[in-house]
Amino acid sequence: MTNGRRNGFAAPFGKADTVTETTKDALPISVRNVTKTYGKVFALNDVSLDIRSGEFLTLLGPSGSGKTTLLMVLAGFTRPDRGSLKFGEREVIRTAPHLRDVGMVFQNYALFPHMTVAGNVGYPLRLRNVPKAEAARRIERALETVQLGGYGDRRIDQLSGGQRQRVALARSIVFEPRILLMDEPLSALDKKLRDRMQIELRHLHEKLGMTTVYVTHDQREALTMSDRIAVVNHGRIMQLATPRELYNQPANRFVADFIGDSSFLPVRRQGDVVVFGDQKLILAQPVPDSPTLLLMIRPERIRLLREGSGEGLNLFAATVSEVVYQGDSFLLYARTDDGSEIAMRGAIREGTVSALPAIGERVRLSLDPADTVLIDGEEVRR
Ligand code: ADP
Ligand code: MG
Repeated sequence: MTNGRRNGFAAPFGKADTVTETTKDALPISVRNVTKTYGKVFALNDVSLDIRSGEFLTLLGPSGSGKTTLLMVLAGFTRPDRGSLKFGEREVIRTAPHLRDVGMVFQNYALFPHMTVAGNVGYPLRLRNVPKAEAARRIERALETVQLGGYGDRRIDQLSGGQRQRVALARSIVFEPRILLMDEPLSALDKKLRDRMQIELRHLHEKLGMTTVYVTHDQREALTMSDRIAVVNHGRIMQLATPRELYNQPANRFVADFIGDSSFLPVRRQGDVVVFGDQKLILAQPVPDSPTLLLMIRPERIRLLREGSGEGLNLFAATVSEVVYQGDSFLLYARTDDGSEIAMRGAIREGTVSALPAIGERVRLSLDPADTVLIDGEEVRR
């Protein structure tokens, strides 16, 4: 697969040799040692990040972690205190936003309510002095791309939230930028529409192939959409990895907590084995070199053994403290004898409902060695 436009937006149905406009390749982005402070707050604290050309990269982090600030630095609306920024080979830190070849969807869409849809979508073309007839063609093409063909004459205040979101998206791609930035573009939509738009944005990215930086605080959205995710906290990047790597091999406690659900058991290194209490663990993973170790347990990886049933490795004796019926599955919380809590999720098949464990029941929870993940338990420094 090439890194350029996989299915040219410039000429959706044209063959390569009939394209009259030059189709532009996607660009890699290189962020180096970027720091941005507001008074005493480090919105960005020495951030370095390489984004591959054509990739869909998500900045994921809690509110106030610096996601928007980083996006604004990429777009050129915020000048950092220090650091450099390259699009391809070009240093752009001093380049004005409209000269950066970057499309942006803002969190609140920032549409002009008194203008028509076409007026909004065409705004970046007017900034770039694109002739009227050419602009009209591009506007209609961008609207078709977001499935709003024929909506050009509508007024913004006649549109639903989902349609406004599409207008903002059309405006961001109408000048065919090589880089697309989106700041929580789906946060104003209800869950059903959000789920559908996640898939649509993913398809749009596949079609247009531009380097895309997407911001969200929703871990599931990040896992759904991204080639890679940069987890951000306190203006720093905690981990940059694929969704699968982040989920299965989080670099630290913050990432493990932020992505998915997990329980943590305090464990110790004893010579060349790792123990929980005085129980030796059977591991299939390397042990991090850290004075404080935690065993991370994902709830769906735990197997429940009832009184007298079956054997397993890494068995934890525990007492059931809570059982929650959730239709297709159940969630169980159990306390080990040393007081640690383990959460597990199990499938419910027909007929098993009545057989769910009762609160107070003694059970054993088994964790396969392949599912043992040890992480550095040090609190992440500020
Ligand atoms: P996020 O988008 O992850 O929620 P932001 O990038 O908006 O986070 O903010 C990061 C930090 O910088 C926060 O502590 C925020 O209060 C602060 N901040 C952002 N923009 C400004 C500003 N214009 N003036 C003062 N503080 C700001
Ligand atoms: Mg933000």
